[in-house]
Amino acid sequence: MKILSVNAGSSSLKFQMYEMPYEKVLISGVFERIGLKDSFYTLKIDGNKVKKQVNLEDHEKAVEMLSDELINNNIVSSLDEIKAIGHRVVHGGDKYSDSVIIDDDVLKTVEDLSKLAPLHNPANLIGIKAFMKKISKAVSVAIFDTAFHQTIEKEEFLYSTPYEWYEKHQVRKYGFHGTSHKYITSRMKDVLNKEDVNLITCHLGNGASLCAVKNGESKDTTMGFTPNAGLIMGTRSGDIDFTLILHVMDEEEKDLNEVLNDLNKKSGFLGISKISSDSREIEEAYLNNDEKAVLTQKMYVKRIVSYIAKYFVFLKEVDAITFSGGIGENSSLTRKMIIEELQPLGIYLDETLNDKREDEFLISNDSSKVKCYVIKTDEEVMIAKETYRLAK
Ligand code: ADP
Repeated sequence: MKILSVNAGSSSLKFQMYEMPYEKVLISGVFERIGLKDSFYTLKIDGNKVKKQVNLEDHEKAVEMLSDELINNNIVSSLDEIKAIGHRVVHGGDKYSDSVIIDDDVLKTVEDLSKLAPLHNPANLIGIKAFMKKISKAVSVAIFDTAFHQTIEKEEFLYSTPYEWYEKHQVRKYGFHGTSHKYITSRMKDVLNKEDVNLITCHLGNGASLCAVKNGESKDTTMGFTPNAGLIMGTRSGDIDFTLILHVMDEEEKDLNEVLNDLNKKSGFLGISKISSDSREIEEAYLNNDEKAVLTQKMYVKRIVSYIAKYFVFLKEVDAITFSGGIGENSSLTRKMIIEELQPLGIYLDETLNDKREDEFLISNDSSKVKCYVIKTDEEVMIAKETYRLAK
């Protein structure tokens, strides 16, 4: 069955087409700068990359060009061959604890949830509607970033704010990156040959979150009401004392939105180091003993370690700690610094294994009480699997 996996942003559209259930990628690509000047798209077929400069006035135009490419490259002979399309949707609120086939009710709910994710849900909806119009026979499925975390108990998801904020305004922890944490959990069930896995999954990319997985279910995560909570990220602050916002507004004569923008776009790696939001540049400067880069890297690692320690106590029994995302998969230095801090818990690194470069590998040594693994995440295939499960 041919299935498209789609991730639509406000000015971009990423896609992969899979032959399911074999998880074989037939074509993948990304349309960028939609609605802006200098728009273009790139495609990858059989390892060959193509880039085309085109006018992309809106997402519908991108879907039209994508459809033409599918036919011209003989991926499909007619669009009717595409049986289902899985869409990444950022916010499913507390309505969706699973992926769902999209109908008018779902469209309305996702739209209503835009209040909670004003930057993401509207863009996701534009993508969904553009595909529904052009490839109308395919079943559309929504896969929510929040869904995997709906198994978190109330005592973990509730903030200690007036209870009516939760009842009236849906103020609570939601958590994000659920598709990645779910994928890692499903891989770890295979790797450990065990269904009821207890894990601490570390998704360390430009955005970053940890998840405490108990018996295969998310029971806590570091992101909260929005993705700005928890760990230090590329440009996001993660956890802060909210009252500093008022102080900075006064001192810098900025309005609330400007300060929130600073916390979202100018904090994290970029804000502390003044070098970059890209961890590779921080690492390079760290290795050259740049003072701010050393500080950034240490703060980054400490925050992760403090959450791992918290989840270790929370879970009581941990089968494995996993590292994924651009940093988790590629930065042996960051992994080493984290695991060295975990020695009081009896967790030890094997430095030789840690330097390997593979999709999935063990990095802890034989004496470690908890196994540590690098597991390459694949949110796209998870979207395709969920879509196949609901549409087949
Ligand atoms: P996103 O959250 O945007 O999906 P990614 O998972 O792609 O982010 O992760 C981006 C981060 O991964 C960047 O900070 C980047 O520097 C880092 N990264 C990618 N490759 C490497 C590498 N080889 N070594 C260290 N960090 C890397």
